[in-house]
Amino acid sequence: MVKSQDNKQTHVRRIDEPMNEYIAICPKCLTMETVYLVDGKLINTKKFRQIKTYVFHTCGAIEPCRLILNQ
Ligand SMILES: [Zn+2]
Repeated sequence: MVKSQDNKQTHVRRIDEPMNEYIAICPKCLTMETVYLVDGKLINTKKFRQIKTYVFHTCGAIEPCRLILNQ
């Protein structure tokens, strides 16, 4: 779950779908890449790493990537 004041809705509640596909956008280098989360855990990527509920690009970005649900 994302800890955010303005986010009233959370996208991560589709329990019928084991895998969620997201577009991750790096705030530093503006890379856009598809990532997959299973039960809120990042899988199958070496370009991104997960810290708690945030996904970071491995380009050295200190801000987490924006994640957009890809339907
Ligand atoms: Zn980056």
